[in-house]
Amino acid sequence: MENKVVIIGCGNVGMSYAYALLNQKTKVTDIILIDIDEERVVGEAMDLNHGLPFAPGKVSIKAGTYTDCMDASIICICAGSAQKEGEKRLNLIHQNEKIVKDIVDKVLKTNFHGIFLVVTNPVDVITYVVQDYSKFPKGKVIGTGTTLDTARLRFLIGEHLTINPKNVHTYVLGEHGDSEFVPWSNAFIGSSQIEDYLEYEKLKNFETEVKNAAYDVIERKGATYYGIGMSLVRITNAILNDENTILTVSSYNKEHDVYIGMPSIVNQKGVVGLAKISLTDEEKQKFNKSVEIVKEEITKL
Ligand code: NAD
Repeated sequence: MENKVVIIGCGNVGMSYAYALLNQKTKVTDIILIDIDEERVVGEAMDLNHGLPFAPGKVSIKAGTYTDCMDASIICICAGSAQKEGEKRLNLIHQNEKIVKDIVDKVLKTNFHGIFLVVTNPVDVITYVVQDYSKFPKGKVIGTGTTLDTARLRFLIGEHLTINPKNVHTYVLGEHGDSEFVPWSNAFIGSSQIEDYLEYEKLKNFETEVKNAAYDVIERKGATYYGIGMSLVRITNAILNDENTILTVSSYNKEHDVYIGMPSIVNQKGVVGLAKISLTDEEKQKFNKSVEIVKEEITKL
């Protein structure tokens, strides 16, 4: 069976995803690039194809059109404006809502029935827009949520402790934005509580560093894209390998009618459920506050 990924919006993020897919052995057989700048994506496809002799697997890469969406497994929406220096993600809402609705209109004409993977910021709100507008099953619309923020946190702690970040078990939850938080009561190094390794003050510093990471990178190089590109490959693998992996993607929260970063179980069908997590009262309050912020933005649409 073909595993086709269509990337719509081939700027920094879309192309980092494509490049990361090419350099890892995945099940992806076809990568289709779509952008309003049609000439540039032809160039991008050529450039990627030139590296194929050194890739770990065989992949077809081409610049495409919306008709390519019909038999795609995943459509990844990376189109739209990105944050400028000091700009909040929530600021992008109206311009990106318009762009994404236009894209969904075109995709729906193709009878696409795979999974929408949404990256465009503010990602929780835009994921809600994609589901609401497409009327796709809720689990088949997934936002990247706090997957990248969780990776950033695991990296920072792993580096500090000289422990493989794969053995740092902790999540960033809530909005992919300023109200995100870390439920430290659920954080482990190997099988030990994180407090056995680090004091609370230090943990809070890591949380702040993760929250500010995008601002700090954008201030220095104008955009963030490699980390999200690799996060997208991780989500793609969870889908195409039917892994039932727990990832903090932005998934639908029925109780509050929002999409938000929660530990979600991801397989070939999309998000099929939530992992159990018990939060302290303070953590519940933080989660609810984050929900309120996303919800308020949705009502403004
Ligand atoms: P970019 O400006 O480099 O690329 C955006 C691309 O979208 C451009 O190539 C543009 O031509 C294209 N585009 C615009 N309108 C389009 C349309 N209607 N149809 C098709 N293509 C269209 O921006 P970027 O740095 O790649 O960021 C893309 C988005 O991803 C932004 O919203 C950014 O904030 C977001 N982002 C999200 C995360 C996350 O964790 N969710 C991380 C980084 C960036």
